[in-house]
Amino acid sequence: MDRLKGKVALISGGARGQGAAEARLFTAEGAKVVLGDVLDKEAAAVADQINKSSAQKSAHALRLDVTRASDWRAAVDACEHEFGGLDILVNNAGIANMKGVAETSEEEWDAVVNINQKGVWLGMKAAIPAMRKRGSGSIINISSIYGLIGSAGSAAYHGTKGAVRLLTKAAAVQYAPENIRVNSVHPGVIRTPMVEALDDDLIAQITALAPMKRAGTAEEVAYVVLFLASNEASFVTGSEYVVDGGYTAV
Ligand code: NAD
Repeated sequence: MDRLKGKVALISGGARGQGAAEARLFTAEGAKVVLGDVLDKEAAAVADQINKSSAQKSAHALRLDVTRASDWRAAVDACEHEFGGLDILVNNAGIANMKGVAETSEEEWDAVVNINQKGVWLGMKAAIPAMRKRGSGSIINISSIYGLIGSAGSAAYHGTKGAVRLLTKAAAVQYAPENIRVNSVHPGVIRTPMVEALDDDLIAQITALAPMKRAGTAEEVAYVVLFLASNEASFVTGSEYVVDGGYTAV
């Protein structure tokens, strides 16, 4: 129950889906969590639910648009004011876009790049000075199997998730001497609101290609993120963790 005891985590996109599952699991394992999202009510509801089942305040929700550097600064400040510091950053917020190269508009391209790619860089830039004060840190950047392999469509999504994979390795190399670990996680099809917005037949077609023949759950990703966040992963940095029921093994 204490795998993250004494640690403070900041989770972007924590209002629902994988981010909310990570917030619940992290607090159950002893962490304090700040969850930021553009969905204010949903983020507040996740924090309330966690706090109602905790002996003391364990979760704090705030507005965080990951494309805004000032929001990130405020989120890191909140970690320090509410809970005394920052040890773990999960760069989880993201949006999907199912359009191919020629079909994607410039506005769509910019929106996906700003949230999925620039948002990850801004998060690390804001968090690293606070982690330095603690003498260590763990950053987990949520990429995708679409950051490892191609598909016919989702051009901007592939571009950003591939960029997150290598940005993770560059940051891991740069900050290893300061004991700040940086890893990426690559989920396959995971049943969250992002996927539930898609056509059922399309989800069935994609999951049929994975050896385990099913979609994953947000909790199945959260357990991998928990491992990377914890001291159990003390020698793990610059790595990519695939959580896809074998999809990319075929
Ligand atoms: P989701 O849509 O349920 O959750 C994403 C969250 O990010 C939402 O709460 C949303 O409000 C938030 N968000 C969007 N734009 C934001 C912004 N500008 N600032 C702050 N928050 C913002 O989807 P999910 O499946 O939980 O996605 C989590 C991560 O996992 C994403 O990065 C996604 O790309 C990645 N991923 C998901 C799947 C999947 O199948 N669900 C697969 C691979 C990777």
